Parts: sequence; structure tokens; C-alpha cells
Amino acid sequence: MKHTRLSVCARKRRYGSEEEARAVVAGAAIVLRPYRCDRCGLFHLTSRTKGKRIARPVG
Ligand SMILES: [Zn+2]
Repeated sequence: MKHTRLSVCARKRRYGSEEEARAVVAGAAIVLRPYRCDRCGLFHLTSRTKGKRIARPVG
């Protein structure tokens, strides 16, 4: 598991539990994935489409 940079941790929103993070994912317009941060021990959300452009909607 990769380490979370402190600067990333500091600017990301923190969630106290994975359930809380998943609730946000469920309501998000883009695909996100909760992960536990080894800096603060809480949860952040990360985009699953790392390095990839999000596909344009068809039509
Ligand atoms: Zn953190």
C-alpha cells in the first residue's frame, strides 16, 4: 500500500469511518474509492481513474 503524502492528507477531506466515506461515494458524480490514510488513520477518497481521462458521455 502506498504512503499518503502529508500534503495530500492535509488538503483532503477526512472521514471518520469507511462507511461514512462510502456514503459520500454513493452520492458522488464520479467514481471514487475510499482508502485508509496512514498519516491520520482516517479515510480519504481517491479517484479510481488515475492517470486516465474520464470518458466523454456518448451522444
Ligand atoms: Zn490522512
